[in-house]
Amino acid sequence: MKLNELTIKQAIDGLRKKEFSALDLTESCLDQIARLNPLLNAFLTICNKEAINAAKQADEKLRIGDKSPLLGIPIALKDIYLTKNIRTTASSKVLDNYIPQYDATVVKKLKDAGAIILGKLNCDAWAHGSSGENSDYGPVKNPYNVEYTPGGSSSGSAASVAADMSIASGGTDTGGSIRLPAAFCNVVGLKPTYGRVSRNGIIAMSSSLDSIGHFTKTVEDSALYLNVTAGKDSFDATTPNLPVPDYSKNLNKSIKGTRIGIPKEFFTEGLDKKIKEKTMEAISFFEKQGAEIIDISLPHTDYAIAAYYIIQPAEVSSNLARYDSIRYGNKRSYFGKEAKRRIMLGTFTLSAGYYDAYYKKAMKVRTLIKKDYEEAFKKVDAIITPVSPTLPWKLGEKINDPLKMYLSDIFTVTANLAGIPGLSVPIGIIGPSTSSEQAALPVGMQILGPQFSEELLFNLGHQYEIGNPNKEKPQL
Ligand code: GLN
Repeated sequence: MKLNELTIKQAIDGLRKKEFSALDLTESCLDQIARLNPLLNAFLTICNKEAINAAKQADEKLRIGDKSPLLGIPIALKDIYLTKNIRTTASSKVLDNYIPQYDATVVKKLKDAGAIILGKLNCDAWAHGSSGENSDYGPVKNPYNVEYTPGGSSSGSAASVAADMSIASGGTDTGGSIRLPAAFCNVVGLKPTYGRVSRNGIIAMSSSLDSIGHFTKTVEDSALYLNVTAGKDSFDATTPNLPVPDYSKNLNKSIKGTRIGIPKEFFTEGLDKKIKEKTMEAISFFEKQGAEIIDISLPHTDYAIAAYYIIQPAEVSSNLARYDSIRYGNKRSYFGKEAKRRIMLGTFTLSAGYYDAYYKKAMKVRTLIKKDYEEAFKKVDAIITPVSPTLPWKLGEKINDPLKMYLSDIFTVTANLAGIPGLSVPIGIIGPSTSSEQAALPVGMQILGPQFSEELLFNLGHQYEIGNPNKEKPQL
């Protein structure tokens, strides 16, 4: 096994046992980036020099027995995380040459924990999208088949972990942008509870929905990463002062008796048959482990996309108003089509005369969706659903049909509207079928829980992974 293929857990063990150095590990990731980035377009900025320097410093610390939780672990970050002195574009030409003066809180926490930043990852511009194709720097390719989308908006974040260019990566999820690309690239993606991880220094998309999460190769790694990033931040008033548990502590707890809800609204005609089959197989695994499977209903799910695509553009139109080209960045004419579409939609639904008809009504629907989950979590501990109604699609297939693109978020947006956490876990590969057209493409399931139930999600996800090891690597 090459060093860049290791998980966080394996890399930490190897580093502490001095089987290899942080420099070896970092160089092995940088080599993989140099080899594959021309093909995948996952990185917009590669921090060769900075990463090598940070690795050497990590080796010094490892030598004296420093036990910082991510010491020497090479990671990469969606280009929407502010990184001091490192170009940050949000994948938009508006910020083509923007160099932040400070690190986002999560970036600071990751660096303080010893992580090494390899570079900045391509995404849909401003995190608007589900395929990565809205990037002003060209789309990211799916490592399992480069003709297909890796999912979006955190496209580069998913691809970099799937292709072993980084050991883990940071992303953001406003309506599914971590869970969807995680499912499409066969990696683990966590959207934490709203407020669990600070948004300070993350370029804002839709402030009441944005969650700051990450991509890893295993569920255990996801827990180790959240151990570092979660917690109260005085720069973000939406982070509550709740203790941060050791998220890796309960991974091996028995799941016997755990009540898992299956919402009927997520298993209707629109769902691809093979995805349904795979999801049902995963559910039966939990049943065999002694979990209790319970049919539930989340009755307002049908209205989620409509509500999301009013609330989110409303907040986008407000957040993007700050790019006025007076203080920093290029002219507003540099905004791409999708950003312009959202600014116009949001401005419209917030304007006098339309506010009550659209925005206010959407907010009422949001409350109903949140209540659906509150009711459901009186009966069940967690909920399992598919992540996406379809397999990854071909690049170019939906780019001229925004509505079709928006519908791919149908199973993910409700978690953002309700502020609950969601973990996307790979459940297998579908295809290739006999037709030469069809590729082998990954599928994921989504595990949802009440606010601040990340420990339970990790427990369920980890148990699944142990019983169903994920060995499918892309052939690159
Ligand atoms: N695909 C969704 C959108 O376009 C979600 C984006 C996200 O989560 N950042 O809004």
